[in-house]
Amino acid sequence: MIISKDTLERIKQLIELKYTGLLLKLLNPEVLSSQQKKDLLDSNVSLSNYYDIIRYLYTYNFNYDIDDPTKPNSFKEIIVDAISNRTPNGDVHTSAISYLEQSLNTAIEKLKQVVINNISSIFLEANEEYRRGILQDLDRSETLESVFKEKFINQITKKLRETSKEVNRDWQRVVVTELTNLIGIAHTDKIIMDNADTDLDTVFVYRKPMSDACRWCKEFYLTSSDTPKLYPITELIGNGSNYGKKNSEWLPVVGATHPWSRTSPPIQLKPGFKVNLDGTQSFMGLKDWLDYVKNNL
Ligand SMILES: [Zn+2]
Repeated sequence: MIISKDTLERIKQLIELKYTGLLLKLLNPEVLSSQQKKDLLDSNVSLSNYYDIIRYLYTYNFNYDIDDPTKPNSFKEIIVDAISNRTPNGDVHTSAISYLEQSLNTAIEKLKQVVINNISSIFLEANEEYRRGILQDLDRSETLESVFKEKFINQITKKLRETSKEVNRDWQRVVVTELTNLIGIAHTDKIIMDNADTDLDTVFVYRKPMSDACRWCKEFYLTSSDTPKLYPITELIGNGSNYGKKNSEWLPVVGATHPWSRTSPPIQLKPGFKVNLDGTQSFMGLKDWLDYVKNNL
């Protein structure tokens, strides 16, 4: 064996700590299980002084429209602003934040398992190959032996490097997708609050796909003339989430349409306004507004 069982166990533990550390940086420490807390304490990681990033980002996205010129720009400003008395109170927000935390937690846990499985199988395969090599040539000299060993170690290093590249990509995907969910949900909550006295079926929203968005997003969020398509906000909320669904089952939603999706959060079309090709709005008056909306659903 070139890699012992103990080494593999140690690597698993390191992965566990790395991802738990990531969770801790992004979530409220309360989200961690008692075992995760114990592991972190055993490794001398402090549980205090961590930012509750999901809650801060939700607050920020709830409080500011995407084109609000007064919104804070740097991460530090966002946190300072969120810590001040602008944090929204109430069950709706608490449950939105808790949903986002759980969703991120699940994504990270899943990713962690994938990493552990990939790394385990790289080592198991290498060990197996090494063993076969030894059985074929039992009388090898010590020099040959070390060359042989080095060859395998190089192979493992290469595979591990490839795996970590993939993992970094996966990790970015998780963060981008969860942030898209967070931004979409926070903006939707704001639209709901802003229209507390209105029938939500008559509150219309649109999402602006980036120019490099995929055909699904373009189809969902643009009309045939490429202006943003309008939806009653209740329809997007009612479609839930596309998480874990096949492409053919995807629907237009308030959060991430799919992993890596490149679309703005839902934006409310103000009564009497029409939406332009670039996603800005211009006033058209209320007289023909409902007809306009009907033609752009
Ligand atoms: Zn897309």
